[in-house]
Amino acid sequence: MDKAIDSSDCAGYKAKGEWAKPTLHERATSLDAEVVSALVEIVGEQYVQTTPQHLEENSRVTIPKNTLCSAVVYPGSVAEIQAIFKLAAHSKFNIWCFSRGNNWGYGTKNALEGGAVILILERMNRILEVNEDLAYAVVEPGVTQQQLNEYLQKNNSRLWTDCTDSTPYGSVLGNAIERGYGYTPYGDHFAHLCGMEVVLPNGELIRTGGILSNSNTWNTHKWGHGPYVEGLFSQSNFGIVVKAGIWLMPKPELFNVVTFDLTDEANLPILIDRLRELALEGIFKSHLHMVNDFQMLSVVSRYPYELLEGNTYLSARSMQTLRHKYGIAPWSLVGAIYGSSAQLNLKKSSLKKHLSDLGKLEFFDRQKVSVVENFTKIYKKNGSQFSQI
Ligand SMILES: Cc1cc2nc3c(=O)[nH]c(=O)nc-3n(C[C@H](O)[C@H](O)[C@H](O)COP(=O)(O)OP(=O)(O)OC[C@H]3O[C@@H](n4cnc5c(N)ncnc54)[C@H](O)[C@@H]3O)c2cc1C
Repeated sequence: MDKAIDSSDCAGYKAKGEWAKPTLHERATSLDAEVVSALVEIVGEQYVQTTPQHLEENSRVTIPKNTLCSAVVYPGSVAEIQAIFKLAAHSKFNIWCFSRGNNWGYGTKNALEGGAVILILERMNRILEVNEDLAYAVVEPGVTQQQLNEYLQKNNSRLWTDCTDSTPYGSVLGNAIERGYGYTPYGDHFAHLCGMEVVLPNGELIRTGGILSNSNTWNTHKWGHGPYVEGLFSQSNFGIVVKAGIWLMPKPELFNVVTFDLTDEANLPILIDRLRELALEGIFKSHLHMVNDFQMLSVVSRYPYELLEGNTYLSARSMQTLRHKYGIAPWSLVGAIYGSSAQLNLKKSSLKKHLSDLGKLEFFDRQKVSVVENFTKIYKKNGSQFSQI
């Protein structure tokens, strides 16, 4: 029997290949005029949006369900957030908070329930400290990945910030609080947060982390005394993080991007065993991103309705055709190795030893990456002409 990838349970698909428009599963109850006035009093008129157009725009998502909020508010300080919490407790409305609100694919700026007041912290976007010696930054929630990266480059920092596959306009803290992931050995973003300031729903401002207040080790020592509570504020909505330290990676002497294409899907279990050994041996310290052909296809092309042959899934034959057309392997992997020239050579030979018999292994140094970058720039500029070649 053909191996099949069943897409029939992908909610939102219509038979003819259009995405169903998300339905607002809960309508917003509009806020009392006096609550809106109180919000305006706290943050200023230009930072409170309640028009139907604004509410609708801020409720758009890429998943089939969304909720309509009752106001979108852009606080500019800790004091304003504290005042909004007190107002919410008094006037009984729900609050959902987003640092930049770019959590595409995972709900974007949607509250769980309709009628909530959405807080977006993009105005709180100061980089408060970069400590070159101890390798960390302290940032507010509105600081974007791009902003921190540009800051480090402009100041000739010896430090790197990790990145994601998503937009450079995502929040460093929002992504870390949501337990997002990146590429370098610092790719587990929540694990690299250290020391937070959080406003609790009662308006109280607390500091988490290993130390008593005013300690110089707030952003370097996670544990300190007593229970560790930072996890309470990750994927939780138990409080609003208004400041946090994030560890930054010292630039390595050299790095190589590593790509690997698995030739025969049947060897996937062997590949997993070998990758585990490579990770345990410390050859791969970066986060490995491994995707199958289906995911890769959804990045490079549209859903191939013309190849469904009356079914709701792609047959193995159709998948083979598409793999061939786009040059895609059944499974592809990307990661990186870092270190001195000698360390990189050792890691490369270990990777070759473990992976070469299973598929195509390639290394990209700085020079090769630049060639790919330049090619991508040219392709973006002249993409349509290339595709006709
Ligand atoms: C094509 C594509 C590729 C992607 N690739 C990646 C990837 O490689 N890695 C990855 O991690 N993600 C990825 N994403 C998902 C997402 O786009 C990113 O994680 C993005 O950084 C999240 O948006 P944001 O930073 O604006 O976070 P926000 O939307 O601001 O925050 C995310 C969530 O964290 C919580 N939160 C935010 N701020 C606070 C706060 N101050 N206090 C308390 N709670 C808070 C909220 O629950 C919020 O919903 C990808 C998405 C797409 C569409």
